Amino acid sequence: MKTELLIIGAGAAGMAAALSAWEAGCRDILLVDRRDRPGGILPQCLHKGFGLACFGTELTGPSYAEQLAQRLKITNVRLALGTEVLAIDADKTALLSDRYGLTELHFDRLILASGCREKSIGALPVAGTRPAGIFTAGQAQEMMNLRGQDPGNEILILGSGDLGLIMARQLVLAGKHVIAVVEKEAHYGGLARNFRRCIEPYRIPLLVRTTVTEIHGHGRISGVTLRRLDSGEEEQISCDTLITALGLIPERELVRKLGDPDWLFLAGNCRRVHDLVDSAVAEAERIGKEATR
Ligand SMILES: Cc1cc2nc3c(=O)[nH]c(=O)nc-3n(C[C@H](O)[C@H](O)[C@H](O)COP(=O)(O)OP(=O)(O)OC[C@H]3O[C@@H](n4cnc5c(N)ncnc54)[C@H](O)[C@@H]3O)c2cc1C
Repeated sequence: MKTELLIIGAGAAGMAAALSAWEAGCRDILLVDRRDRPGGILPQCLHKGFGLACFGTELTGPSYAEQLAQRLKITNVRLALGTEVLAIDADKTALLSDRYGLTELHFDRLILASGCREKSIGALPVAGTRPAGIFTAGQAQEMMNLRGQDPGNEILILGSGDLGLIMARQLVLAGKHVIAVVEKEAHYGGLARNFRRCIEPYRIPLLVRTTVTEIHGHGRISGVTLRRLDSGEEEQISCDTLITALGLIPERELVRKLGDPDWLFLAGNCRRVHDLVDSAVAEAERIGKEATR
């Protein structure tokens, strides 16, 4: 199998790169994603706040993804869902896996738009066991918004980046008790607009200069030890769920050993983490054109 332009990841960045490459004249584009639907992270983000720059209005994540997917439908970009890229070789071949098996694909140029992954609790020096009930914010969001699952009731959130703030509000609106959002820095980490919208109106406590040093519980988490970083004081609090929002890491594992060949382009959150989808899309549009030239 062969294609002129292979794009890995049909999130906002991958779709935008495909559209701009198509508009720039590339007529042989294959866009693949391991998930069964396009949009990447967007379909699980049910809140509004996407697309002010690109569409002039605040959309939800799913409607933003739908706008891009509709535009793709009127092109001949081939979209292969349920298809994971397992490896990329320096001789411009990709190993694809789907439900029919493995395929080797040759390409001329590659845009990697594989998004980012969340740091997990393993990234911190936290004592204790790892019982059930510890989720990253993205996992909790996917559980609630895509699978209708219930993460827990008495919830502590560790990390005050945008994901932590957005999940705090969603959990309160779902009737959960958010005990606090805990942040090691002296200030919350997310966008001011997310703090104003998600934390202040619901009076969710924000504990700054504080961290979790130990996890308690067997089977299911039953509590954590909190440490105040300035005074060194420790306190044990009960909770049945710990949600971590510790930051995002660009996902570039597939191309880590390839160096910087002239046929490889990076777009979206795998290039750098974008707070706003519009900025990931604007960058990807530029990369799509560049890869076509
Ligand atoms: C919880 C949350 C809330 C947000 N809220 C807002 C907001 O209110 N407003 C706003 O403007 N922005 C928001 N953002 C930011 C915005 O959603 C992202 O920056 C943007 O959607 C990232 O797009 P992407 O295409 O780079 O990555 P992703 O959406 O992560 O897409 C990457 C895709 O690559 C696929 N993939 C990865 N590796 C492979 C492989 N090996 N083979 C095949 N497929 C692969 C994945 O399955 C995935 O579908 C939010 C982000 C999050 C996480």
